[in-house]
Amino acid sequence: MTRGYPAEPRGVTVTFAGSGDAFGSGGRYQACIHLRPAGGSPVLLDCGATSLSALKRLGIDPGEIAAVFISHLHGDHFGGLPFLILDGQFSRRTRLLAVVGPPGTATRLADTMECLFPGSSTAPRRFAVEVTELAPGTAGTICGVAVRAWEADHPSGAPALLLRLDLAGKTIAYTGDTAWTGAIAEAAADADLLIAEAYYRDKNVPYHLRLADLHAHLDQLAARRIILTHMSADMLDAPREPSFEQARDGLTITL
Ligand SMILES: [Zn+2]
Ligand SMILES: [Zn+2]
Repeated sequence: MTRGYPAEPRGVTVTFAGSGDAFGSGGRYQACIHLRPAGGSPVLLDCGATSLSALKRLGIDPGEIAAVFISHLHGDHFGGLPFLILDGQFSRRTRLLAVVGPPGTATRLADTMECLFPGSSTAPRRFAVEVTELAPGTAGTICGVAVRAWEADHPSGAPALLLRLDLAGKTIAYTGDTAWTGAIAEAAADADLLIAEAYYRDKNVPYHLRLADLHAHLDQLAARRIILTHMSADMLDAPREPSFEQARDGLTITL
């Protein structure tokens, strides 16, 4: 009889703490997706300006978050970092906080902290904030999460990223904000979950994904499950689209 090593725990609990756009459409919080891997520390996908409130409303402890993966440097996707960092400082956090984002993240984060809370970017605190900048086309492993990045089509003063995370035996792809690009199909290939922007139904808004784009390319999206997020009032007010699941603030699923 052979006896193997105990299997690594598998499974991820995904909570959409914030599923809204930049403008509070539908009263929703900005982009903030909380991933809790079985047997590991939770991480965030994006951290919009409203994220601390969104997490605390759901009773999720921001102090447990080991890493934040940022798709791009717009306020509704990364603007919550100064609040998360200061909350850690005032709640006596000691564990390192990893921040992973596109090239330029370290400088933009320091600038944003100085703008919102002067002196905060250099204030002494009990934990380190370690920024890893991920260029499109590269990959890395941060806090046990394997991440790959592709270039999104969404100007934000820095490259915007499509992200694919592998954690606890599950694969989650995330479009962030982007016009349709073939890289979305690559990032979503064989994923357990694709979290896709669906900003408008069919109105042509530059640099954003529409429901019409997802329909047009559905045969290329080989993810096992697709959940729409970052919806404007145009999407939220429309009759529910049966082909796709839609996120809402507080939606929790288990992969
Ligand atoms: Zn954006
Ligand atoms: Zn956005």
